[in-house]
Amino acid sequence: MQSLDTLITQDQKHIWHPYSAIQADYPIYPVQSAQGVMITLVDGRQLIDGMSSWWSAVHGYNHPVLNQAVTNQLQNMSHIMFGGLTHQPAIELATQLVKITPEPLQTVFFSDSGSVAVEVAMKMAIQYWHAKDKASKKQLLTVRNGYHGDTFGAMSVSDPENGMHSLFSNSLSQQFFVEAPRSPFGEPCTQEDIAEFKKTLVQHHQQIAAVILEPIVQGAGGMRFYSADYLRQVRELCTEYDVLLILDEIATGFGRTGKLFACEYAQISPDILCLGKALTGGYMTLAATLATEEIALSIRDGEPGIFMHGPTFMANPLACATALASLKLLLDSPWQNTVKNIEQLLLKGLSPCKKLSPVKEVRVLGAIGVIELHDALDIKILQPKFVEAGVWVRPFNKLIYLMPPFIISDEELEILTSAVVGVVKDL
Ligand SMILES: *Cc1c(COP(=O)(O)O)cnc(C)c1O
Repeated sequence: MQSLDTLITQDQKHIWHPYSAIQADYPIYPVQSAQGVMITLVDGRQLIDGMSSWWSAVHGYNHPVLNQAVTNQLQNMSHIMFGGLTHQPAIELATQLVKITPEPLQTVFFSDSGSVAVEVAMKMAIQYWHAKDKASKKQLLTVRNGYHGDTFGAMSVSDPENGMHSLFSNSLSQQFFVEAPRSPFGEPCTQEDIAEFKKTLVQHHQQIAAVILEPIVQGAGGMRFYSADYLRQVRELCTEYDVLLILDEIATGFGRTGKLFACEYAQISPDILCLGKALTGGYMTLAATLATEEIALSIRDGEPGIFMHGPTFMANPLACATALASLKLLLDSPWQNTVKNIEQLLLKGLSPCKKLSPVKEVRVLGAIGVIELHDALDIKILQPKFVEAGVWVRPFNKLIYLMPPFIISDEELEILTSAVVGVVKDL
């Protein structure tokens, strides 16, 4: 084993990390292993995971049931092309996804990452209208503060100004943006809140193929929670003005908000749904785009009679088998109670932050806890402080947020929130 310093030097010299730079002085921590909610660093330190590896590792790490699913599938095949061939893991997973998502969603397109699932959703919407002889409907309408991924289509519908993608704005397709919803979660949506959305839809629906939104929780674009009533009204307006509704549940899906899917808070269903992140319990990269039969059959019956997308690693069998096992683990567990309990403990544990001067707001929904600060944080200074406190938390911009694995114990969650309160106190 190379020395820790050599590992870090090699890494910094050659490897890109998310939203980082080569040969920059961002702290980086080599990981030896991870088990349950514990991340063990190469230097021997142990950290309680507060991030679920960005929403994904809901069952924690190195889970025996998921390990077994991978091992079993490995005996058959780890991969096989999906053009002209099919396999049981994909068939069972698609069937299961259709079963647990809202009723009108009947078809599944598998891809490799959330961003690609969003690209696929946008292409489906555009191809649908093309098939219906309404090719002028090719733009998207969305709200500010959204985040839908890092590829070009996904960037074009993510917040144009929050810093992640503004540099590329001249290279992106032009989409319609309206203000982000302001009516808070748990409250009705005011007339003014939906007014700009409605006006834009009324004026431009002939150019708009679809609306794309993250339901209830806006993730990386600001960790904002908004009114289910807003979402319900969006659904009604989309139907009224003949515009498809794409919901991006890549972050919110699989129980994180307290419902299996966040759109259940509004009791609505989208025409197209994007899933990813927790789909395989954080084991492998896999995403899915679900669509109604109406969309699927319209594309079939239009020109050129097929949907124009097909990734090399589409429906990777290892990933599908793991996703099936992960879903079964989740659905066989009392996940509603688990998430409720995490919600209560996050509320209690983070509440001391409310009266601290750097803090603007503390908000919690399901297994998501957010501390919004008045000023942007310096990750270079803050990251080592969390590590010293024995927790893995990855803040960005003005946000410190927690979304622990569902298997976290009350004691571990208490340590996690106390560590965060301690770091915020010292700011
Ligand atoms: C993470 C995320 C994506 C992008 O997923 P990747 O797997 O990183 O490409 C898209 N939409 C939402 C809401 C996300 O949270």
